[in-house]
Amino acid sequence: MRFSKLRLNGFKSFVDPTDLLIADGLTGVVGPNGCGKSNLLEALRWVMGETRAKAMRGGGMEDVIFAGTDTRPARNFAEVSLLLDNSERLAPSGFNEADTLDITRRITRDVGSAYKANAKDVRARDVQMLFADASTGAHSPALVRQGQIAELINAKPKARRRILEEAAGISGLYQRRHEAELKLKNTEANLLRVDDVIEQLA
Ligand code: ATP
Repeated sequence: MRFSKLRLNGFKSFVDPTDLLIADGLTGVVGPNGCGKSNLLEALRWVMGETRAKAMRGGGMEDVIFAGTDTRPARNFAEVSLLLDNSERLAPSGFNEADTLDITRRITRDVGSAYKANAKDVRARDVQMLFADASTGAHSPALVRQGQIAELINAKPKARRRILEEAAGISGLYQRRHEAELKLKNTEANLLRVDDVIEQLA
C-alpha cells in the first residue's frame, strides 16, 4: 500500500480543504517558517491514530482544530483523510474491497474523534492496527519530529529497542498481547466469581 493523497480540512493552520498529492519517489515540502510544514506531518500521524496530544504539540486533542485568526472564526471540527493506493490488494481483510483505501479521522469539539474506512465507521484500534501491521503508523520511526534525532542519541536502550520493533512491524503484536492479557485477567476474575457462587450453592 502506498500513500497517495493527504486531505486536510480545518486541521491546525489548514482551515480550508487542502489536498497534498504524494507522488511516486521523493516528496519535498518547502516553505517559510510557520507556514505549516510540521502540521502536515502531524496530520499524517493523527489520521493514523495518534492519541497523545503532546505528540501533536498541543495541550489537548481538540487543539488540532483550527483555532481562528483575526480574520477567520475558529472551526468546530477538523478532518484528515489519508488515501492509500490498494491496487495490489495488500490491505488486510475488512479494508480490502477497493483499489483505493480512504482512512478518515474527524474530531468535533466536545464530541471527540471518529474514524471511517471507505466511508464505513471503524474503531480507532482497527486503524491503529492497520498501520502498525504495515510497519507505519502514528509511532512510525519513518516520521521524524523536530528534535527527535537528539532525543534518540540520548535515549535509553529500551526506548531504542521500541524503535527497532516498530521498524520490524511487530508493534501490533504487542498491542494484541496486551489486549489478550487483559481478557485473561477478566476471565480469571470471572472464574473466581463462579467458584464463589458454586461454593454458596453447595
Ligand atoms: P518551522 O519551519 O518554523 O518549523 P513549519 O512550517 O513547520 O514551521 P508549523 O509548525 O507546521 O510550521 O505551523 C505552525 C503554524 O500553525 C503557526 O502559525 C500556528 O499558529 C499554526 N497553528 C497551529 N495550530 C493551530 C490551530 N489549532 N489553529 C490555527 N493555527 C494553528
